Amino acid sequence: MARKIVATSFLLSQAEYLANMSNNTMSIEQELNTRSESKCELCGASKNLAGFEVPPSSDGSTEQSVLICNTCRDQVSNFEQIEVNHWRCLNDSMWSQVPAVQVMVWRMLNQLRSEGWAQDLLDMLYLDDQTMAWAQAGTTDQSDEDGVKHLDSNGAVLEAGDTVTFIKDLNVKGGGFTAKRGTAVRGISLVPDNAEQIEGRVSGQQIVILTKFVKKS
Ligand SMILES: [Zn+2]
Repeated sequence: MARKIVATSFLLSQAEYLANMSNNTMSIEQELNTRSESKCELCGASKNLAGFEVPPSSDGSTEQSVLICNTCRDQVSNFEQIEVNHWRCLNDSMWSQVPAVQVMVWRMLNQLRSEGWAQDLLDMLYLDDQTMAWAQAGTTDQSDEDGVKHLDSNGAVLEAGDTVTFIKDLNVKGGGFTAKRGTAVRGISLVPDNAEQIEGRVSGQQIVILTKFVKKS
C-alpha cells in the first residue's frame, strides 16, 4: 500500500516537472502562486492574477517577479489612474518577506507619500540596503529633474496656481500685518530653486511664504 502511494506521487511530480520544462512561464506563475498562496501580493485579491516582472530590469525569475491582480497592475504601470484608497492594502503587504514585494510596496508608497498615511507606512517600512537600492533603481521621480519639490506642511506637493491656507498666524515681515491662520492664498507661484518658499498675494501684497506654514486646500 505504502509503495503504491510513493509511486503515484512520483508520477505526479514527474508530470509537473515535464510541464514546467515545456513552459517556463507557467513554472514561474506556479512558483508565484505557491509563494503568494494564490493571492495578489499587493492587495490580497484572489482573482485575475498574473505574474509581473518588477521593472526596470527583471530577469524574469520568480525572485524578481510578483503575482498581482489586474487592478494593481493597471495602476502600477499608470500612476495617473491611481485610486489612492485601493493602496491602503499596502498596510498589510508591506510586511511581506519577499524582496520583490517589498520593492513594489516601497515604490507605491513613495508615489503616494503626499498622503499622510502613506508617508507613515513608508517611515515604518524597513528594506535592507540591497533591496532599497533595487527599489530606488526603478523610480522615475520627475521632480528630481528640476531638483526642487515644494511640499506643504502635510507633505502634499504644491504646484503653481494652487490655493493654500495658513496653518498659523504669521507676521509678515515688512508688510506690517499679520496673516491669520486659515487665510486662503489663491494662485500661488513656486520660488524656483528654493523648495521651502512659495509666493502669493495676501492683503493685496505679494509675499514670500514658507511652505511649512501652509496646507494645500
Ligand atoms: Zn492587487
